[in-house]
Amino acid sequence: MHSAQIKTSGNPLLEVFKTPHETAPFPLIKEEHFLPAFKEAIRKGESEIQKIVSNSKNPTFNNTVVALERTGRLLNRTTGIFFNLLSSETNETLQSIAEEASPLLTKFGNDLFLNPVLFDRINVVYQQKNDLDLTPEQKTLLEDTYTDFVRKGANLSDEEKMRFREISKELSMLSLKFGDNVLRETNRYEMHITDKSRLSGLPDGMLEAAADKAREKGKEGWIIDLTLPLYTPFMKYADNRELRKKLYLAYSSRSFKGDELDNQGNIKRMITLRLETANLLGYKNYACYVLKKRMATAPEAVYSLLNDLYKACFPAALKEKAEVERYAQSMGFTEELMPWDWPYYAEKLKASKYNLNDEMLKPYFELNHVISGVFGLATELYGLTFTPNRKIPVYHEEVLPYEVFDADGRFLSVLYTDFHPREGKRGGAWMNEFKGQWKENGVDSRPHITIVMNFTRPTKTKPALLTFSEVRTFLHEFGHALHGMLADSTYSVLSGTNVYRDFVELPSQIMENWAVEKEFLNRFARHYKTGEPMPEELVNKIKTAENYLAGILSLRQLSFGYLDMAWHTLEEPFEGNIKEFEENAWKKTQLFPVIEKVCMSTQFSHLFAGGYAAGYYGYKWAEVLDADAFSLFKEKGLFNKEVASSFRKNILEKGGSEHPMVLYKRFRGQEPTVDALLKRSGLK
Ligand SMILES: [Zn+2]
Repeated sequence: MHSAQIKTSGNPLLEVFKTPHETAPFPLIKEEHFLPAFKEAIRKGESEIQKIVSNSKNPTFNNTVVALERTGRLLNRTTGIFFNLLSSETNETLQSIAEEASPLLTKFGNDLFLNPVLFDRINVVYQQKNDLDLTPEQKTLLEDTYTDFVRKGANLSDEEKMRFREISKELSMLSLKFGDNVLRETNRYEMHITDKSRLSGLPDGMLEAAADKAREKGKEGWIIDLTLPLYTPFMKYADNRELRKKLYLAYSSRSFKGDELDNQGNIKRMITLRLETANLLGYKNYACYVLKKRMATAPEAVYSLLNDLYKACFPAALKEKAEVERYAQSMGFTEELMPWDWPYYAEKLKASKYNLNDEMLKPYFELNHVISGVFGLATELYGLTFTPNRKIPVYHEEVLPYEVFDADGRFLSVLYTDFHPREGKRGGAWMNEFKGQWKENGVDSRPHITIVMNFTRPTKTKPALLTFSEVRTFLHEFGHALHGMLADSTYSVLSGTNVYRDFVELPSQIMENWAVEKEFLNRFARHYKTGEPMPEELVNKIKTAENYLAGILSLRQLSFGYLDMAWHTLEEPFEGNIKEFEENAWKKTQLFPVIEKVCMSTQFSHLFAGGYAAGYYGYKWAEVLDADAFSLFKEKGLFNKEVASSFRKNILEKGGSEHPMVLYKRFRGQEPTVDALLKRSGLK
């Protein structure tokens, strides 16, 4: 369609929002507004970029780098609204709009990075970077802009550029294929049982789900398959050892059977192509390329983290394994403990040790109490206040919007809360933004943040009572929300949660630490009927049960980290045997005998069908950071104003405006160490 023909009048997405804080005017937005809005916003973005490119003046930081950062505002506003709705209140129409819009959005992004004139201008400014007298945030913006282009191939010769694009295309195809193979392997297996006695030990809820599954397929009895809601409890509770073994082998040999769904060839090809990408861009291996844009910066830092944790976890894991073995023997088990025995006896021992379950805790976690506890924590630490404002439009009547104010009464952010599951909302929990934060012409444009959950609904007789893990999830997402709401950057691309991936979970995970502190729980965890505070004994149990098998669970995460790093630090194309390579890579982390028929790599979607290549260590990295940061609160006081203010000023307000290690050291006075994490997990 010719751009002049796009009808803009009457499309609320293309007009100024006449709502409180210019929030999205949901009641006015109709589904048919989105595609025309995307097209018009892309056209506008393109013409903004054209203006930069055709500027006859010499390139400067302002007329090129800042100007580029400010392009695409209308597109960001539109995608912000659309993709939030696609997750929180979706339907088939929105899904088909997404399919139609995605290629347009991808093309817009690609064209930008392939624009040689634009890159030339950026490069001119970049070459003068030391003479420009830039602030730290401006320096980061310049460096990031330049490296984003370089990492997309802007500095390559024409021939290399062509190869770079071929590789990217083949890699994304292989990644889809890899994930698809694992999914088809998962879906094609079923264990059909007609004799109920073979299912002894399974909880009623799980039996019901297995019976439903059989009924769906028009069969008698029960079907156990490899989906996690069935697989995990089966391995924990089924008394029948042969069936556990059978299911374990089916699960763990996915895409490793030498048939059409086997992933070994895909891994070899991907490892080779990733290495070629890294080499093209001047890195000796793929991990170096990835980690350049992470807090860790290089493979050495990742290995040093893995090794430090390994030293503490391995001896603990051996002890824990021996304890479970002794327990199994006390139950009459006489053979060697195998991976298919492990979850079963570990679960039994846990039940006998702690006697703690969700139902015991839920009465103390009524949703409204938890909300006041979580918001109250932000009031105590940072002086924030939360005022519901029903005049802010919402996309569903259950969404409650707040205005968030700073201690001095200054407006900080809009916060939408959306707590319960609905048809049209995807599973899980997340924080997102409808609008980011930035400063322009002396005006601080404040963000619109949302937190979305799938918490237990209230019933006719009971209010919404959360599980302990739901309380933690709330604190976690609220931590991301604080990162967004307190943002104080100039450039939106460096604001709030726009930080390196191995740093983004610090603000969220640190909040979870308060969940097991009695001083915090005492403020809001009261029985919904009697008003009694949670008994001290329960609080202590939560804490000790948290660390059950901490050594073994950490060791497992480390084994995946080592495997990931082994694949992505290769400096030659891989032609060997996948299984051998894997066993070798994680040998020192393995507590059970090698089983020939199974393979992790061929089903490791994080590495080969997700974004975690050379990034799996990030889970542990984030734990180290949050424990290390929280230990300062433990030392100075859980609600210490000075520590809180330093965390706010140095971390939460800063977004990605400087390198995360610089920000972190400013808060903590030194680089993080593993000590606090080991102490918290009872491993030290
Ligand atoms: Zn998170």
